[in-house]
Amino acid sequence: MIRLEHVSKTFPGTSAPAVGDLSLEVDEGEIAVFIGPSGCGKSTTLRMINRLIDPTSGTITVGGRDVMDVKPHGLRLGIGYVIQQVGLFPHRTIAQNIATVPELIGWPKARTAEQVSRLMEMVGLDTELARRYPSELSGGQQQRVGVARALAADPPVLLMDEPFGAVDPIVRARLQDELIDLQRRLCKTIVFVTHDIDEAIRLADRMAVLNVGGVVEQYGTPVDVLAQPANPFVEEFLGSERGLKRLSLIDVRGTKLDPGPVVGSDTTMDVARQVMQASATDWVAVVDDGHLRGWVEASYLQGPDRVGDVEVRPFLVTLRPDSSLREALDTLVASPTRVAVVLDEHDRYQGVLDVGRIGGELE
Ligand code: ADP
Ligand code: MG
Repeated sequence: MIRLEHVSKTFPGTSAPAVGDLSLEVDEGEIAVFIGPSGCGKSTTLRMINRLIDPTSGTITVGGRDVMDVKPHGLRLGIGYVIQQVGLFPHRTIAQNIATVPELIGWPKARTAEQVSRLMEMVGLDTELARRYPSELSGGQQQRVGVARALAADPPVLLMDEPFGAVDPIVRARLQDELIDLQRRLCKTIVFVTHDIDEAIRLADRMAVLNVGGVVEQYGTPVDVLAQPANPFVEEFLGSERGLKRLSLIDVRGTKLDPGPVVGSDTTMDVARQVMQASATDWVAVVDDGHLRGWVEASYLQGPDRVGDVEVRPFLVTLRPDSSLREALDTLVASPTRVAVVLDEHDRYQGVLDVGRIGGELE
């Protein structure tokens, strides 16, 4: 959808190029994140895609068309652009701000109005805010207006330059979640610029780690980049806890579970003790008809009773197939059984994860 070939940009009056020789492709429907230190050329690259800046050399195509063959004005109607400063028009209401592009391209009033309320709902803005002015909104709300405005004429491509940089971490995380959710429904081609590694890992289908001069040090999926940083620059940029960050991207679903020490309520203590010994644990899980009742610790597995006759303690936290291994790790370190239990969508017992299995995924 977007292809940059040997693109460079040297600003007038400067000797070193802001972007030296950059080649990279972004597929339709993916979120590509440009990440790198301040001044490495992220914004410059982004702005060359919608021709806010013209490249010194090289070729950029969007949807197969050379951007230099399209009038900048027309080009930008098909490319939404969201920036940190939002750039809302202060004397226009929220509704008028969002309606900017539809009005520009002459949509009928009714269609524009309909689109405005649809978009406000989509980005999580109460339609009551439509008549307010930007200064009457919080930072997070303004950012949502910026996204809604960029999406107004339904452009296939969205360029986002550190859009959530100015909001606090909690609002930021929420906006990130909303963007992921929005993208699931809209399937835009998005280029997202950030210098926040966690934001990149969270949002990216693929991430390009840039160095000064627009040098692409590595371009790949977050899981791959975290697993195998191409060089020391990338490794340093990823920071510590590289393993933990990777765990947050891997689903429990993709990991082979341990069946765990499992017995039914009507199992005799003798048999339960054998199960426990075989799995080298000091507890057993109690599962009846596929449903997890809880666990019983070794000291209770005495006497003539059956397992179900003694105290069965519930697992306080259980995981789902779409839980991450990072969540699994958090769960098991806090658990007296030192395993994380996985249930499927129908609450049926699937098995357990221990530290060893989780660590195995990082190898
Ligand atoms: P980033 O977005 O990664 O922080 P930028 O793309 O904004 O980096 O800038 C890359 C380099 O180009 C920096 O050294 C910056 O100072 C320089 N630069 C950016 N815009 C201009 C400009 N209009 N004129 C001269 N130099 C610029
Ligand atoms: Mg920038």
